Amino acid sequence: MQTSWGSATDRGRVRRLNEDALLAQPPVFLVADGMGGHAAGDVASRVAVAEFATLAGRDAVTHDDVQDCFLRAARGVREAVGAGRTGGTTVAGVVPTGSDGEPYWLVFNVGDSRVYRLADGALEQVSVDHSIVQELIDTGRLRPQDAEAHPDRHVITRAVGTGAVPNPDYWLLPAGPADRVLICSDGLTQELDDDAIRFLLMDQPDPQAAAEILVQAAVEAGGRDNVSVVVVDVGAGPASVVDEATVERPAPPAAHDAETLQ
Ligand code: MG
Repeated sequence: MQTSWGSATDRGRVRRLNEDALLAQPPVFLVADGMGGHAAGDVASRVAVAEFATLAGRDAVTHDDVQDCFLRAARGVREAVGAGRTGGTTVAGVVPTGSDGEPYWLVFNVGDSRVYRLADGALEQVSVDHSIVQELIDTGRLRPQDAEAHPDRHVITRAVGTGAVPNPDYWLLPAGPADRVLICSDGLTQELDDDAIRFLLMDQPDPQAAAEILVQAAVEAGGRDNVSVVVVDVGAGPASVVDEATVERPAPPAAHDAETLQ
């Protein structure tokens, strides 16, 4: 699958360190949000990124490859953080993959960093947070619109490096010819709502410009946490969606997909 991408990260306005880390080296794109304080968090996120970076440059990456990275990352984080200290990290991301010649996104997640997909002008959260507030929402005890104000909004229920074995969730989604995928740490989503994120993603055809403007907007909106963003486009990305919405043109021939989705 042909992709283009951009990434940006910022310490924000409050935190002393940036404990986020990110990876944007095809075919692996992810964000890791470290936790633990006293430098354990930034060690954890960087160790996880280093493990997943071993997949960079490969022609094909499978579910098993990603699962092996999670296992090695968990071990690496525990060793790097050291006995007597607690450190861990979220890991959320995508690998563009193929099945029977059709392009797919393999989405993976541990923690409360998120993967969204922008397709046909609609923004959809693909990953499901491993967090206290998500569990309260799932059991009907908290309304989604009250999540950002909840005192336990930062408490996650799964992380890489804190338990014995990481427990990632996976999704396999068909990739559309103009998909844009957003991967972000919670520093973005606690400052910007879905409408603002969607607007900025639609407004910036270039994935690097989109990543930078999203991070900048979150910092300007308060920047209470580290903010990290990776934007991955299929082919020409959502610019073609904007074109189709505003310019009348004949439907592309079926062969168009085959050309742009190698
Ligand atoms: Mg965070």
